[in-house]
Amino acid sequence: MDIQVIWSKIQKGYVDTIQEEVAVQFDNFQQTPLGFRWRGDHCEVLKLLLVFKSPEGYLQYLTITDKGVFCLALERDRKDLSLCKSRWILKYRVKEDAAPKITGKGALLKETPQKTYLHLQGICKLEMVPLLLSNVAYYHGHLCPELAIGYRAAMLACRELGLSRKNALDFFILAENITSAIEALQLVTGCTIGNQNFFAYDLGKHVYYFGRFASEDEPQNVLRVALINLVVDLSHKSEVEERILAGQPSAAELKDYHKAVNDAVEVILNLSEEELFSITRISLRPPRVAARKDYTKCSCCGEVVTVEKSIPKDGQFLCQVCMAKAV
Ligand SMILES: [Zn+2]
Ligand SMILES: [Zn+2]
Repeated sequence: MDIQVIWSKIQKGYVDTIQEEVAVQFDNFQQTPLGFRWRGDHCEVLKLLLVFKSPEGYLQYLTITDKGVFCLALERDRKDLSLCKSRWILKYRVKEDAAPKITGKGALLKETPQKTYLHLQGICKLEMVPLLLSNVAYYHGHLCPELAIGYRAAMLACRELGLSRKNALDFFILAENITSAIEALQLVTGCTIGNQNFFAYDLGKHVYYFGRFASEDEPQNVLRVALINLVVDLSHKSEVEERILAGQPSAAELKDYHKAVNDAVEVILNLSEEELFSITRISLRPPRVAARKDYTKCSCCGEVVTVEKSIPKDGQFLCQVCMAKAV
């Protein structure tokens, strides 16, 4: 079945509703379901067709399996909590027989996705964003211009340097801001703060350095990507932003604000790299990182602290907080 036929059937309700909890094998690396058990059968996912958000905000995965086309949803007990129990619900199976005819209007997906896209149903004008960016947005909590900038910079670096989540430990990234962009950079590249190969200094600039660690402590050739387009600037919406933060925007204001955000994201995704960034190579010494950590206990507060970050005193160790209090 072709994606347009499938989507048309879904739009027409030509599905068998299931609504049962199932066990799903999920590939965290690719962010895609691999298979699930349903009524004693293993259904193997052959292709992920679409990821889209339900009106309640849950991610739904439309998959072709060896047992038919199914829609899986990852539902959470409470939407407002990020750390709460989630479960997979098998929503429905698309009927296989008698495909309804696709008329001009029924052909909703003009663009048959070669890649997989997120379909943000009814949320905004911006209908399609790449799957990877949609995963980043899901992790971050929303889609915003800075997130899209981080995504574009990360994709550029991955292509230019052969950087990927698989070889991320060979690379490092330095960022000159602490904004939503660094979420996208970490998730796309696999260089993360926790892995000690992502470093962020807030100089308020969307400037990023991408380089490889080297065995010798010499300056290395590093890719420098700097945003030169003001497309992230939403200062013309600052009044509405304040009202949103104060929790008192009107529905019209909210709609208008979301439109401005989505328009900016759309522009960012469509501009060429040269229109967005200044891309240069510079020479830079890779940051040094400690391979492993030794721990000790602070002799004052009794809390566990790394030896590296503690201060030796009278043959014992003090954490920096206790040290500061003692002075
Ligand atoms: Zn954001
Ligand atoms: Zn202490």
